[in-house]
Amino acid sequence: MDPLRSVFDLHTHSTASDGTLSPNELVNNAHTQGVEVLALTDHDTTAGLAEAQATASQRNMEFVPSIELSATWRDGLLHIVGLNIDPESPSLKKGIAGFQATREWRAEEMGRRLAQCGIQEAYEGARDLAGDGTITRTHFARFLVNRGYSANVREVFKHYLVKGKPGYVTVSWASLEEAISWIDEAGGVPVLAHPMRYRLTDSRLRRVLAAFKSAGGIAIEVVCGNSTPTDIAKSAGHARRYRLMGSVGSDYHGPDNAWIKLGKLAELPAGIDPVWQTWRR
Ligand code: AMP
Ligand code: MN
Ligand code: MN
Ligand code: MN
Repeated sequence: MDPLRSVFDLHTHSTASDGTLSPNELVNNAHTQGVEVLALTDHDTTAGLAEAQATASQRNMEFVPSIELSATWRDGLLHIVGLNIDPESPSLKKGIAGFQATREWRAEEMGRRLAQCGIQEAYEGARDLAGDGTITRTHFARFLVNRGYSANVREVFKHYLVKGKPGYVTVSWASLEEAISWIDEAGGVPVLAHPMRYRLTDSRLRRVLAAFKSAGGIAIEVVCGNSTPTDIAKSAGHARRYRLMGSVGSDYHGPDNAWIKLGKLAELPAGIDPVWQTWRR
C-alpha cells in the first residue's frame, strides 16, 4: 500500500452511536468499498473501537481509533473529531462519562417535551433504537419517522429537533478547550468536523477557526461526504489561512442514506497537508 495514495475515510459511525451498522459490519463494508484506512468516530463514545479494530486487523486494513466530541462554542454546537486516540486515556474517559449522563438526561427531557405536544413514548422508542449505544437525536428522528410524524429524518429534524422546535433541549457540552485537551491527553489529533455544515456566516466561521486553532486544533475536514467542489475549495482556503491540516471523512451513518458512501471522497487539494502525516510517515 502506498502510504500517500491510500483510500481514506476518517469519519464514520456505528451502532455504538447513531450509525446503523455494527462496528464489525461497518469495517467489512468499508473493506468491500476499497477503504484502506478507516477511522470510526462515534459520537462521544469509544465503545465500538475494540470490535472495529479486531475486524480491521482480520481484513488487513489500517484502523484509526477515533471519536467525535460534541462541543459548545458561544451558544453554538461544534463537532470535534479526535483521530488516533488512546481510548484508555483517563481524562477522555472521564469526559465521555459526563457526556453519557448529559445525553441520558437530555433524552428523558426530550421525551417529556415531545409528550407535551402529543407524541407519546418517544424516549422509550429512541432508547430502544439506540440499544446499548449512545442515545442521540438521530434515534428520536428515526422513531418519529417510524411513527409517521414525518417522511424522513431530515424533515423530523426540521420540525421537531432543532433549536426553537418542541423536542429541542439546550445542553452545554464540553467547551472547545476541554474537548481539545481530552483529545490531546489521549494522544490524538483534534480535527474540526464538517466546517461547512454549521451554516455559519463567513465571519463567524473565521472566528470559530481562529478559536479552534488557538485552542490547539490541528486540522479541519476539507473533504466531507456531501462536499461540493465549492465547499472543498472554501474549506481548503480556510485551512491555508489558519495553517490547519486537511482531513477527509464521509460521516457515513449507514446504507439507508444513499447519498453518502464509504471512502468515495475527493482528494485533498494541492498544498493542503494531509492530517495522516501526523501518525504515518
Ligand atoms: P446529537 O449529537 O444527539 O445532538 O445528534 C446529532 C446528530 O444528529 C448528528 O450527528 C447527525 O447525525 C444528526 N443530525 C443533526 N442535524 C440533522 C439534520 N438536519 N438532518 C439529519 N440528521 C441530522
Ligand atoms: Mn450523527
Ligand atoms: Mn458531526
Ligand atoms: Mn459524524
